[in-house]
This record gives sequence, structure tokens and C-alpha cells, in this order.
Amino acid sequence: MIRLGERICGRESFTAKALGILPSYSTYRETYALLQESRGWSRERLEAYQLQALARLLDHAYANVPYYRRVFDERGLVPEDIQTLRDLERLPFLTREDLQNNLADLKATNYPETAFEYVTTGGSTGIPVGFYYEKGASRAREWAFMKTQWDRVGYRFGDKCVVLRGYIVGSAKDEVYWKKTLFGRWLLMSSHHMTEETLPAYIDRIRRFKPRFIQGYPSTAAALARYMVDHRVAPFPTVKAVLCGSENLYPWQRSLLEEAFGCRVFSWYGNSEQTVLAGECEESTHYHIFPEYGIVELIGRDGRPVEGPGAMGEVVATNLTNFVCPLIRYRTMDLATAAQGPCTCGRNYPLLERVEGRVQDFIVTGKGELLSGITMNIDTDAFDNVKQFQFYQEKVGEVILNVVRKPGFSDLDAEYLYHEVSRSCGDDVVVTIRYVDSIPLTARGKYRYFVQSLPIRFGEREPTKSENIPSDISA
Ligand SMILES: [Zn+2]
Repeated sequence: MIRLGERICGRESFTAKALGILPSYSTYRETYALLQESRGWSRERLEAYQLQALARLLDHAYANVPYYRRVFDERGLVPEDIQTLRDLERLPFLTREDLQNNLADLKATNYPETAFEYVTTGGSTGIPVGFYYEKGASRAREWAFMKTQWDRVGYRFGDKCVVLRGYIVGSAKDEVYWKKTLFGRWLLMSSHHMTEETLPAYIDRIRRFKPRFIQGYPSTAAALARYMVDHRVAPFPTVKAVLCGSENLYPWQRSLLEEAFGCRVFSWYGNSEQTVLAGECEESTHYHIFPEYGIVELIGRDGRPVEGPGAMGEVVATNLTNFVCPLIRYRTMDLATAAQGPCTCGRNYPLLERVEGRVQDFIVTGKGELLSGITMNIDTDAFDNVKQFQFYQEKVGEVILNVVRKPGFSDLDAEYLYHEVSRSCGDDVVVTIRYVDSIPLTARGKYRYFVQSLPIRFGEREPTKSENIPSDISA
């Protein structure tokens, strides 16, 4: 006879095998167990844990990672000089360029070549980066953190999921744009074939699949949701939550997804470099940063930490678990706003109120200020007769709104849209509306609402009007 515990373990390891983390299954189990325990820790206990993990990381980096030995030596520092989290400021930031230029020296010399898994990411910010995971272990740990987050909305291994994450599946020829994976539990659906004509088939397939969760890019899920709302399609009764990641979730997307799917939208924020991971609380839409995952600093435009609720800064993060390629004070080029704690759920994790998005998602106003896309109100009825849109900036203080019109779009709609968008952008941004036939997805299958072609850096000098650069991006 099989006891219940064994059955769950069996299913878990079965899923682990399918996810490719079975060789490091013990890493998964250990990390998951730690997270079960540490969620109840006090702030002091969490900080003590971080300091201990940091000390271990710095000792290792100094002894075994040539790049960091150099960083310490050049500053006349040794790891013991970093005694508090605040002391981390004595070490320099690691930019994407630093990472690219020093990758060979960032590899720990005390690991065999077989321990390194080369990973690349980030075409979207214009600076692709390559770095190393610890083969097997990094992905297993990541799953333990992800699973812990998804536990908050009731996710269980084995649950059926529809996955909308930029895949190209099937072909227009056979009219099948999806495929099952993970032994039939995940239905991957192509984001490249979603059109007014094909969406009814998608919806029909999802309804027959009876998923418990939809996970995907917010932009892809929003395209499906928009169609469902516009055509008064009823929500899928089996879906418990929409799990959103890998892109910023705008407030208007959240309300659209909630309306279409009739359930909770649960978002998380992280990066492939694995320096930061934060997921929404089950009791609010604030993000809990996992302190066991990394140390997160919010850095202002002057390069100094910003503090206190409501303060916005660039996320600078130090991974605490990747010893094969340590990333210390890594500049993510994402901006986030701190929230007031403690949270009602009882966790003592640091809180983010919002993730504002990538630096490249900001509009540069005529005065050189950065306008967050997240505060722009595109939730209004001014967009009712707009099928698709995309903001595009190539000149300081000017933004172009590319619009694909719905059949009923009138001159009145154009005027109203112009008025509303101009109001959102404020006095220092000139808006121009252009009509286009379609807006293509990115190579990764993401739908981008904003394309910024100015070289934006948070915390460094902004481009000025004389530095407007020509762009070859034809939206
Ligand atoms: Zn909470």
C-alpha cells in the first residue's frame, strides 16, 4: 500500500525529473525546506542569515574568483572589512558591461568545468549578457523559490497549466498552435499566432484542457484577455490564478486579466541572472523580496541608496547562492519602489510596492526627467477603439504612439486619444499619433508597449536634446 506522503513525494520527484532538476533534487528539497522555515523568522534573524551567507560568498570570491580578488586588492580591502549590509557599498557596482568584459575572470577557479552552465539573456535592453549557472543546482534552487511563491496561490506540482510565454508552436498550415509538455500537464501555446481569427480556437482548446493556472508574459495573457472581454467570452471556470512574470505587470493589465479570467493575478519579479526574486504576497499586491536569494539595494540617481517607503531606485542585487559565477552589487537596470512594512501576512521580508520596469521602459521628458510607463493611464475608454498600440521614443521630449485602429475608429476617437495620452505624458512631452497596420512581436515573442531607442541610464547623465540619435527600429 502506498501512503499519502510517499505518493506526494513520488509525484514531486516525477515532476522534478520532467523539469530537469532531478540530478539536483536534494538541492531543491533543502532550499524548499529552508524557505518553509525562514518565512517565520524575525527581521534580525533574516539579516543575520544574510550576513552569514554574504561572508561566505565574499570569502569565496576573494579566494577563488580573480575578478573579485582584483576588486578587493585595488581598494585595499579584505572580506572582513564588510561587516554589515551597509558595508557592501564599499564594493563597486557590477554593470552588464563589466560582466561581459570580465566573464572569464568571474568564473570561480575551484569548480570543475563541468559545474558551469553558460546562460545568455537580455536582448530586450540592447545589451545581451552571458554568465554561468551552477549546472543543475541553480535551476533546482530557482524552482524551490518559484514553488514557494506559487504556493501562495495554491499551486501544486502536477497542476495543469496553460503557458503563454512567447513560444512558437505549430504552424498556420495545420492550425495547431499549441503542444503539451511535462507529461501532458503544461499546454504551451504560441504567442506568435494569436490573432482575431485564431483566438477562438485557442479559447476552445484552453476550455477543453481545464487548466488550474495560466502562466505567462503579462502582454501575451493580456492579448487573450482583451479578446475575451471584447467578445464577452466567459472566464475558464477551472482557473484559480494567473501567474505573471518576466515582464512588468501594468495596473491596467492586472485589471484586464482579473476581468477576463475572474481570478487573482499573481506576479513575480526576477531576472535570469538570478540576483533578485520577489513575489506578490497572498494578502496584497506588494512584492516580498526573498532575503535568502539575494541582497537587494535600491540605488538613486546619485548612486547612493534610497530609503523609506515610496522611494524609487534602481535594483542593485547580490546573489547569495551562485558560487561558480558570483554577481555582487549587480545593476539590474530595473527600477522599483520600496513599500512600508511590516506586511499583514507576518513575513518579515523586505517589501516592494511596485516594480516600475526596466530603465528602457521610461519616457525621457523635455527636461530630462524619466516618466514611468506604469503611471501612464491607458486604462481609459480613449483606447476602446484601438486594437494595438506601441509607444516609441527616439527624441528627448517627444513620443510617438503607433496605433492599429479598430474598424470603428473615428476622428473623434483620434482627438480624444491624443488628448488623453498628452495629458498622461505631461507638458514636457510632445505626442504624435501614427497609424500602422500591425505591431510585430519581438523575436522572443513578447509584445512591447514601449520601445525606447534613447540610451537611458538611471543614475548617470541623461541624454540631452543635442544627443538625439537616429533609430533603425521601425515600429
Ligand atoms: Zn505579505
